Amino acid sequence: MAPSHVLKCCQKVLAWVPVAFIALVVAWSYYAYVVELCVFTISSTAEKVVYLVVFHLSFVMFVWSYGKTIFTSPATPSNEFCLSKADKEQYEKEERPESQQEILRRAAKDLPIYTTTASRAIRYCDRCQLIKPDRCHHCSACDVCVLKMDHHCPWVNNCVGFSNYKFFLLFLMYSLLYCLFVAATVLQYFIKFWTNELPDTHAKFHVLFLFFVAAMFFISILSLFSYHCWLVGKNRSTIETFRAPTFRNGPDKNGFSLGCSKNLREVFGDEKKYWLLPIFTSLGDGCNFPTRLVIMDPEQLTVSSQNEPAKSSVANQSFPTRPLSESQNRLLSGDCQWVETGPEEENVKSGFCNTF
Ligand SMILES: [Zn+2]
Ligand SMILES: [Zn+2]
Repeated sequence: MAPSHVLKCCQKVLAWVPVAFIALVVAWSYYAYVVELCVFTISSTAEKVVYLVVFHLSFVMFVWSYGKTIFTSPATPSNEFCLSKADKEQYEKEERPESQQEILRRAAKDLPIYTTTASRAIRYCDRCQLIKPDRCHHCSACDVCVLKMDHHCPWVNNCVGFSNYKFFLLFLMYSLLYCLFVAATVLQYFIKFWTNELPDTHAKFHVLFLFFVAAMFFISILSLFSYHCWLVGKNRSTIETFRAPTFRNGPDKNGFSLGCSKNLREVFGDEKKYWLLPIFTSLGDGCNFPTRLVIMDPEQLTVSSQNEPAKSSVANQSFPTRPLSESQNRLLSGDCQWVETGPEEENVKSGFCNTF
């Protein structure tokens, strides 16, 4: 086997280490809570039953959403975003960036694309050889273009994006609930540990560590969850927080925001009964996003420079929105000049998810 293949295999195996670590901690917490705490330490039957029922409910929801986040493949752009064979050959033959942009611009004419690179070029992935849909980014860890990519998370060894963002949020929420429930119910036994009221068995050390571990994870995940709640409210991905998407009228970090309630529905769907279940209910197809800007006459919007994000006067108004495919593709039509090209700006690296 070639050395590069061995290296790749090793990298693939090593990438599962954080997931294995979490799985081990969760398996131990299950054993410590069910066996050491409920069976060996708690004497009241009623207390045991209540604790075990609530514990198993939160445990199942947590493991379910964690599993769905890990094993849902990132969604990739559909074939319509790939260049045709003729265009691809022509693109590769061309050496001048202006001519390459002309080819891309022609190919993207009928695509629902409203954002460009910061230098106003069509966003093209050389690696996947496709025109990137809005909010799509190439993940260097997964080596694919991922729709509405948020970040590559080592703790789930997967890209968090359009296909699993809801699952990721539920995973954070249920892990918080799980940790909170464990910490809250273990607290009184944790206090008994320090006052020497627990029977002198090894169970008391499990109780001690259960509290520490649950409290530690709770505090770490809380900040990450709060941050993502804020992102959902703004309809913004982690990547877009670092680099605002560039629309026809300039970079606008709120370009995809439709108002808090609609933003929430974009991720969780229209049917509230499914909101708390790790079942895919996000709206749209991941390639095509409603934006408050498409129904505006672009000529009336303030044209802003790259360093000065568009502060449109429309920020606090609500607008009827529609999918981009139904609207005229103003970005790519008419007088847009693709003067500057340069290398594609994003090849997103993993590592945003280092909070816990
Ligand atoms: Zn790509
Ligand atoms: Zn990835």
